Amino acid sequence: MSTSEIHPNVKRVIYTEKEIKERVSELGRQISQDYKDSKNLVLVGILKGSFVFMSDLVRSIHLPNTNVSLEFMSISSYGAETSSSGVIRIMMDLRTSIEGKDVLIIEDIVDSGLTLKHLMELLNHRNPNSLHTAVLLRKKEGLKVDVPVRYMGFDIPMVFIIGYGLDFAENYRELPYLGELKEECYKK
Ligand code: 5GP
Ligand code: MG
Ligand code: MG
Repeated sequence: MSTSEIHPNVKRVIYTEKEIKERVSELGRQISQDYKDSKNLVLVGILKGSFVFMSDLVRSIHLPNTNVSLEFMSISSYGAETSSSGVIRIMMDLRTSIEGKDVLIIEDIVDSGLTLKHLMELLNHRNPNSLHTAVLLRKKEGLKVDVPVRYMGFDIPMVFIIGYGLDFAENYRELPYLGELKEECYKK
């Protein structure tokens, strides 16, 4: 990728399109292996940040003997813009029951882990057969609670990431790579 194609508000590219593609395909292979005996697998994408990850991931999943379905939830966490309080509010809920089904939550990024932890507790109450998580990015140093991530794309440093579905103030989701947002763009 030539530097002229990199958005001017991106400090550096953390992972290129090609690197992401390879990693996501690998996750798809692992998921296909692990769920080969599953009857019903429901992939629950958390909007909006996971939409690009989810669309690439589902195309690397090959489960000919499983009913694979996609659902989406939209949640928002109260708190400051670049950190989360972990108190989540459901803006859009699942439209079908997950009772007795194998559920895989698809998330873009885990920082403190609070959002994912609350979401897992919430979905566990609906009695799925199993509940696991696939997360593209994890900020290991940000973790405040222990949250099990079964499929993990990349561990990243404590910088603010945009692109490949991730936003800052609803912008930059369209960038095909994962980039670090320049600090002057969010610190005033
Ligand atoms: P947590 O509850 O784990 O602290 O926060 C997770 C949520 O915070 C993510 O789903 C995402 O919406 C947001 N978030 C945390 N770090 C970043 C980041 O580096 N970039 C973007 N775009 N969102 C982030
Ligand atoms: Mg998210
Ligand atoms: Mg966001």
